Amino acid sequence: MARSYVAEARRRVGPKRERIGPIIERLAAEYPDATIALRFRSDIELLVSVMLSAQTTDVNVNRVTKHLFQKYRTPEDYLAVPLEELEDDIRPTGFFRQKAKAIRGTMKLLLEEYDGRVPDRLEDLLRLPGVARKTANVVVAERGEAQGIVVDTHVRRLSQRLGLTRQEDPVKIERDLQRLVPRCDWNRFPHLLIWHGRRVCIARSPRCEICVLNDLCPARRAEASPAMPPSGGAGSARASV
Ligand code: SF4
Repeated sequence: MARSYVAEARRRVGPKRERIGPIIERLAAEYPDATIALRFRSDIELLVSVMLSAQTTDVNVNRVTKHLFQKYRTPEDYLAVPLEELEDDIRPTGFFRQKAKAIRGTMKLLLEEYDGRVPDRLEDLLRLPGVARKTANVVVAERGEAQGIVVDTHVRRLSQRLGLTRQEDPVKIERDLQRLVPRCDWNRFPHLLIWHGRRVCIARSPRCEICVLNDLCPARRAEASPAMPPSGGAGSARASV
């Protein structure tokens, strides 16, 4: 029964290859300013911010880095203090011991092998301690041309609900999205999903009734009416957040 309902929902909205264009267009119209929420002024600050953002909110990271980046400006600065001092300085971001260790390991490797600079290539970023694929993708995308697609909790949830992937593993989800999303949209696509996921397609209670994608979404709740206008209006996410 459940399987046939899912199949019926997929038939109703049509193939994902035909939906991906309108999905991106509508979200781009809805969130023209969708961008990273972390605040940073240099590549080092970007890298540290993204490393600190694991398991916490961007708002929390910005609160901590506002002071942190006054004190630590170069890779050497992170190695010049005792580990415990760095732990204390980043404590409010949670998992501070692991994060402090990873940041120091990363700064050491940057100095030893990359002249103290953040490398450009995804492969090089992935060599840094504590830098997983999501962190590396965010850093690369923010510095220019994306070499992959960031998959965080929002991107994962929305990609699944929109029927863009059936995978659970972030690496496999990214592979599906790379096949589907035009390369020129790899930078902005995750931001659009993240913004929509925070405002409308919320994890516990998606607001399908005001969602601009509800006629394109196989997971639309039954009681929500289809075919919302693509932008604006009192019910739009912009108006309601
Ligand atoms: S219709 Fe509902 S489930 Fe689908 S993307 Fe919109 S809010 Fe999410």
